[in-house]
Amino acid sequence: RKQLFKLSTGSKALDKLLGGGVEAMSITEVFGEFRCGKTQLSHTLCVTAQMPGPNGYIGGKVIFIDTEHTFRPNRLKSIAERYNLNENAVLDNILYARAYNSEHQSELLNIVGCKLHEEAGVFKLLIIDSIMALFRVDYSGRGEIFDRQHKLGQMMSRLQKISEEYNIAVFITNQIASDFKSPELATRPIGGNILAHASTTRIALTKGEGAIRTAKLLDSPDLEEAEVHFLITSGGIDD
Ligand code: ADP
Ligand code: MG
Repeated sequence: RKQLFKLSTGSKALDKLLGGGVEAMSITEVFGEFRCGKTQLSHTLCVTAQMPGPNGYIGGKVIFIDTEHTFRPNRLKSIAERYNLNENAVLDNILYARAYNSEHQSELLNIVGCKLHEEAGVFKLLIIDSIMALFRVDYSGRGEIFDRQHKLGQMMSRLQKISEEYNIAVFITNQIASDFKSPELATRPIGGNILAHASTTRIALTKGEGAIRTAKLLDSPDLEEAEVHFLITSGGIDD
C-alpha cells in the first residue's frame, strides 16, 4: 500500500493551510507575480523532501526541472544549514535538469519517467519551475493557443500519471497574466482551463512588505479557501 506523505513548505502556517504540506500523488501549483517566492519555495521543498516527516515518511530524492535558469545551489546550502543537514549530501540528492524549450521540457519528462521506473521509491518530489515559461515563448502567436493548450494538456496528464504511479509529489510554479487592461485578469494564472483542471491544489502568492508574503489556497478538493502569511528568509520559506 502506498503511503500518502506530505512535504513541509518550511512555514508552519503554510503547511497548515495545505492540511500538512505539499501532498504526494497530486499536483500542487503556486502562482504569482515576479519575486513573490515561487522559486524560494521550490528550493525549500528540495531540502524538506529529503528529511523524515510525519506518518513514517523517511525522506527522498528530488527532481528539479528548471525552465528559467533560477536554480541556485547556494540557496540550497543555506537552507540545508538551517536544518542542520550536510550541504553536499543535500545537493547530491537533487537531480537537476535545465529545459531549453517546451519540446525539451516534455522530453525531459520522458527521461524522468524512465528514471522513476529504474529507481523505484527513491524520488519523492518532482518540481517544474516554471511550468508555462517556455510554452509562453514557443507559442506566442495568437493562432497558436490551441496547439499550446493541446501540448500542455498532454504534459499535465503525464505529470498526473507520474505522481500517482510513483507516489511522488509534483510541485509546479506558474506566472500570472500580464494583462493590465483589467486588474482582475492580471492576477490570474496563465495556462487556462487545462492547467486549472490539472492542478489538484492551487496557491496564489502575493507580495507583502519586505520578506512577508501571502499565500491563498484555491481550488483544493478537501480544504477550505483561506490565506496565511509567511516569510522568505536566508534559510528558505519560514514563519
Ligand atoms: P519568484 O516568485 O519570481 O520565483 P523568488 O522565489 O525568486 O520569486 O523570490 C524572490 C524573493 O526572495 C526576493 O524578494 C528576494 O529578496 C528573496 N530572497 C532571495 N534570496 C534570499 C535570501 N538569501 N535571503 C532572503 N531572501 C531572499
Ligand atoms: Mg522564479
